[in-house]
Amino acid sequence: MSVFSPQPRFRIYSRTRDYFQAMPALATGAYAAGDHCETLEKALTEHLGVPYAVGMPQARVGLHLAIKASVPQGGEVILSPNTIADVINMIISAGAVPIFCDINPVTGNIDPDLIEPLISSKTVAILATHLYGLVAPMDRLREISTRHNLILMEDAAQAFGAKFEGGYAGALGDVGVFSFGMAKNIMAFFGGMVLTSDKKIADRVRQEITSYPIISRKKLGKKVLSCLIKDLMSSDIFFPHLLFKIFRHGYRKNIKSITRLIETELDLYLKESLPEDYKSQFSALQAKLVLEKLESVDLDFQHRLSCAKMYHDGLSDIHEIRLPPMLEDGSHVYNYYPIGYKNRHELRLFMMNQNRDIALQHIKNTADLPAFERWHQDCPNCRKWANETIMLPNYGKYRLSEVEKNISSIRAFFKK
Ligand SMILES: *Cc1c(COP(=O)(O)O)cnc(C)c1O
Repeated sequence: MSVFSPQPRFRIYSRTRDYFQAMPALATGAYAAGDHCETLEKALTEHLGVPYAVGMPQARVGLHLAIKASVPQGGEVILSPNTIADVINMIISAGAVPIFCDINPVTGNIDPDLIEPLISSKTVAILATHLYGLVAPMDRLREISTRHNLILMEDAAQAFGAKFEGGYAGALGDVGVFSFGMAKNIMAFFGGMVLTSDKKIADRVRQEITSYPIISRKKLGKKVLSCLIKDLMSSDIFFPHLLFKIFRHGYRKNIKSITRLIETELDLYLKESLPEDYKSQFSALQAKLVLEKLESVDLDFQHRLSCAKMYHDGLSDIHEIRLPPMLEDGSHVYNYYPIGYKNRHELRLFMMNQNRDIALQHIKNTADLPAFERWHQDCPNCRKWANETIMLPNYGKYRLSEVEKNISSIRAFFKK
């Protein structure tokens, strides 16, 4: 057994250079200086072929502002409930109404066949979420939104670099958002971008965001520190020899104070207005980090794709588990490799005992959350998906030998 094994379930897409740039810039206050934001916005509009890009403090704030700019009060937005709770909050806090539409049980994305019965005279937009970097069926969504004169929006927070029918995720609809948050495949500690082909939306979003202050030194500094801690905890020495053992102990004994640290999305509360501390601007330093990372996006994707192919080939004869579609056309960038199994806790415990570190999906079926009871819809496919999904790791630094061990461990569980 390798001394550097297991590798952790998650790892941040960070470089040592990120810290060497961020720390002095934060210390001197220079993080806000320079025109990197404009440079990044211009680079993205050219690369993606979309007319307008506006830097954001977070993807979710981009969604909030884009909805506020395009959906009248009380207007309805149809979306998949298989997303983070705060996305629902961003719709509500923008004065719009979330209408949950169930998902396709294989892809985890919105099922276009279920949309039309939900369309009413108040429907204004469809929001597609490309969960795990698997692009939603944008051709079908475009056809439906055109037929009903709806705005087509994309939550491409997990899909930077994905392509679909010659276009790029984030630029396939009328409005799209990217995230540069710490868990994403381009990370700038925090951050996001709105992309749009609609000048009016772009102008309104920009007008509002420029009224916010630049992200404070304290807030950005906290994000940097929190990334640094996560990087240290997930390092090859510290993780297998200390942290993994603590997690495994907590999981075996069901010690809530340990399992809570990693399992749950804790922020599940209803927010009827945009929290004040969400109101900040993306900084020049963060934009510079994104610019520097643009060229590594495709390399990371190629690695994730190799892992995905190994998982697919190694697991496709196990009929008890659900695998995602295996597509190599760039429309699926596999930010994780999401599989489904009805006794996922049992499988995870077995794998942990075999020295494997695996995450269960923490995203809930938001249509069932008590916070959003007012907007509840029965979405059985999403309920099942949220209860069964396991996110197999395949990030940029994840070794193929670890993928092999995961496959062997899963096969052993099913006695294959
Ligand atoms: C991370 C994520 C977001 C939010 O991104 P932030 O930049 O943290 O606001 C939204 N939707 C999905 C699907 C995400 O994974």
